[in-house]
Amino acid sequence: MREAELLYVLAVGLFLYESVVTVPLDAAVVQQRLWRWRRVAPFLLRSGAGPAVVLAWPLPPLGRLAIGNRKGRFALAEVAERLSVHRKLMLELKLATNLLFLSIFGGGAALVWLGRAVPDLPIFTAICGSWLTTIVAAILARRSLSKDLRPAWKDVIVAMVSPISATRLPELLGKKVFADLDGLVLIGALVPPADRVEPFRLALARATYCGDADPVAIAALATEVGLDVARLRTPPERESASALAYCPVCHAQFMRTDATCESCDDLVPTPYPASPEST
Ligand SMILES: [Zn+2]
Repeated sequence: MREAELLYVLAVGLFLYESVVTVPLDAAVVQQRLWRWRRVAPFLLRSGAGPAVVLAWPLPPLGRLAIGNRKGRFALAEVAERLSVHRKLMLELKLATNLLFLSIFGGGAALVWLGRAVPDLPIFTAICGSWLTTIVAAILARRSLSKDLRPAWKDVIVAMVSPISATRLPELLGKKVFADLDGLVLIGALVPPADRVEPFRLALARATYCGDADPVAIAALATEVGLDVARLRTPPERESASALAYCPVCHAQFMRTDATCESCDDLVPTPYPASPEST
């Protein structure tokens, strides 16, 4: 492998490493991919212990990730307001980091094609200019965040040393903007309606059967975001005629009514209504 190709591969490897963002173990994470927000399941580094990690969206337009709390506030109306603050806050930073990404990887690809390991003046200027703009935009964005949502200086300092690390500043600086709100509120407000159903179903079932939240508040929020609460409580479709009971939380099915669901702290399954054939 030529020197230019080796450097390019190393840059891609470092970028992917920098794309791994840590989030609190109990956070609900939503990520903007292209122009749509999606719910993402964090990957746990150790079972039952934190932190968890998510892979930031690796292609341009780079850069929006938000976390909600598992036991945060149910303030749906605040999401739109925060979102507009988040958008304004991140606009210059996102623009600068996307330019930086294109300068590094577009410029790098040109160097590989030309077989040069050292950037020529236009590429060097583009990388340094967008890197500097990114750092200035990050300092301004950080300063305009309220004190309790402001991240540590560490990420900005690392970005001052490595332009590849700097491409991840929007995620690192913006991820806590919604952190005091409940994750369900973020999911209800940001992700497409079809993707809201399962998290709301699970949260409602856990609240009802495991008592870890207030089911009335979750049902009210579900209605507010356009979900049908009765449908969220619908039993899973029987996988076979021998399924006699189901776990209302994880929807595992059982062939005995006296079983317990090991995955859900030995929760007692709910019997299916007797089918017409068996009566
Ligand atoms: Zn279960």
